Amino acid sequence: MASGCTRCPLAATRTQVVYGTGDPDADLMFVGEAPGRDEDLQGIPFVGRSGQLLDRLLAEEVGIARDQVYIANVVKCRPPDNRDPKPDEIAACRPYLEEQVTVIAPKVVVTLGNFATKLLLDTDQGITKVRGRAYPMGQAQLVPTFHPAAALRGGGVVLAQMRADLVRAKRLIGLGS
Ligand code: URA
Repeated sequence: MASGCTRCPLAATRTQVVYGTGDPDADLMFVGEAPGRDEDLQGIPFVGRSGQLLDRLLAEEVGIARDQVYIANVVKCRPPDNRDPKPDEIAACRPYLEEQVTVIAPKVVVTLGNFATKLLLDTDQGITKVRGRAYPMGQAQLVPTFHPAAALRGGGVVLAQMRADLVRAKRLIGLGS
């Protein structure tokens, strides 16, 4: 069980495993980086400031609520002091994400930021380069976009591009005009 996982050193410092949340039949799945402080305490991904922005963009651009999508992270345990996840931690956690993608079988996976995008697109290129289009990913389509934390830091242009990416995802799940 993921809740007792000890596959990497993050097990020693986490409060709890933050596996994922939402609709197991969702057409739309989001993949972030790693739990932060709020997520580690509550056991739910994207409940802090980034999550509040994600909820708002989801409502405004896709017209749905977070319980209608599935939300997960590359790494299921909080890295201490919110440092970047390390390659061995990402590798150890990868089977959980692969299991989630297989079980949820979404039509569209939106990767939020560089960690999720590089892992699932299998690329070294950064998010700024690869965003703006969709990529085939097995039976699904992958839509890369910025991490909401980048929009909180970066302001208007990043936010506008995130909105455009979510409209792209909306069309691909068949909700768009
Ligand atoms: N940032 C992430 O990447 N994931 C979360 O769950 C929260 C913040």
